[in-house]
Amino acid sequence: MFPSQFEYHRAASIKDALDLLKQFGDDAKLLSGGHSLIPMMKLRLAQPAHLIDVTKIAELRAISESHGKIVIGAAATHDTVANSDLVRAKLGLLAEAAAAIGDVQVRNRGTIGGSLTHADPAADYPATALALEAEIKLDRDGGSRAVKAADFFLDLMTTAIQPGELLTQVAFAPIPSGTGYAYLKYPHPASGFAIVGVAAIAALDRSGKFANLRVGVTGLGPKAFRATAVEAALAGKAADAATIAAAASKTADGVDALGDIHASSEYRSELARVYARRAIQAAVARAKA
Ligand SMILES: Cc1cc2nc3c(=O)[nH]c(=O)nc-3n(C[C@H](O)[C@H](O)[C@H](O)COP(=O)(O)OP(=O)(O)OC[C@H]3O[C@@H](n4cnc5c(N)ncnc54)[C@H](O)[C@@H]3O)c2cc1C
Repeated sequence: MFPSQFEYHRAASIKDALDLLKQFGDDAKLLSGGHSLIPMMKLRLAQPAHLIDVTKIAELRAISESHGKIVIGAAATHDTVANSDLVRAKLGLLAEAAAAIGDVQVRNRGTIGGSLTHADPAADYPATALALEAEIKLDRDGGSRAVKAADFFLDLMTTAIQPGELLTQVAFAPIPSGTGYAYLKYPHPASGFAIVGVAAIAALDRSGKFANLRVGVTGLGPKAFRATAVEAALAGKAADAATIAAAASKTADGVDALGDIHASSEYRSELARVYARRAIQAAVARAKA
C-alpha cells in the first residue's frame, strides 16, 4: 500500500515546527521516526496532506542534565537513549526499556517522543514513564506546559496532547542510589512489542521493608497504568517472596484487559500478575536495604 500524497517539510527549529503546525492545522502531522505513522499512512488510517519532520532539530535530539533532572529530547532515538552514558548511569530503568524495544532497525529510527505520543497500548516507554513519574513538556505557539505521565495517557492511543502542540522533551528525576529497578516484558515474538510489560522501582528501609514502590504496567489494558493496588498492598511491608506474590496477584484487578489474536484477556491478566511479581522481585534484588 502507498500513502496518499503529502508534502514533506523539514523543520529546522522548534519555532519552525510550531509555525508549520499553525499554518497547516489539522492537515498536518508531525513526523519523528515514522515507525508508527508511516505504516498508518500506508494503511490510509492517517492521510495528512503535510508531514512536518522534527528529527533534524538538534535540541530535540539532545539528552542532558538540567536542574537535577535528566532531560531527553523528543526526537532522541531508542538506541540513543539505551546507549547514553547519562541515562545508563542515572536512569537505568529507562535504558533497559529502550534496549528492549523492537530490533536494531526500530531502535535506530523510533523516538521517545513518537512512542509516547502514539501511546500504543503495547509500547514499552509508557510503563517506565509512569514508574519514573516523568514530566512531559508540550510546546505550542506562544507557550508551553508540563504534563505528568500519570495525566498524559488518557486511553487507547490517546494522550493529553492538544492540536498545535509539539512534545519537545521528557524530564526524569534520577533514580536514587540504592533504589532497585527492573523492566520485564513478555515480548511479541515478531515485533517485540510487550504483550505485557512491567516496570518496577523499589526502595527498601533498613529493616528490608518497602519504603517506596512504583509499578507501571503496559500491554494489559487500553492504556499503560500505575498498579496502585499492588503498590498500596506492599507499602511498609516486608519485601519477601510470599508478600510480593500476594500483592502482585492484584495487578489486573479492575483493568479492562485487552484480548486479541495474540493473547486472550485472561492470558494477559495472568501474564501481568506473573510479570509484576517478577519485576518487583528483580527490583528488590537490586535494592540496598
Ligand atoms: C516492527 C516494529 C517493531 C516495534 N517494536 C516495538 C517494541 O517492541 N516496543 C515499543 O515500545 N515500540 C515498538 N515499535 C514502535 C517504535 O518503537 C516507535 O517508537 C513508534 O513507532 C513511534 O515512534 P516514532 O518515532 O516512529 O514516531 P512516528 O511514527 O513518527 O509518530 C508517531 C505519532 O506521534 C506523533 N509525533 C511524533 N513526534 C511527535 C512530537 N515530538 N510531538 C507530538 N507528536 C509527535 C506523530 O504525528 C504520530 O502521530 C515497533 C515498531 C515497528 C515498526
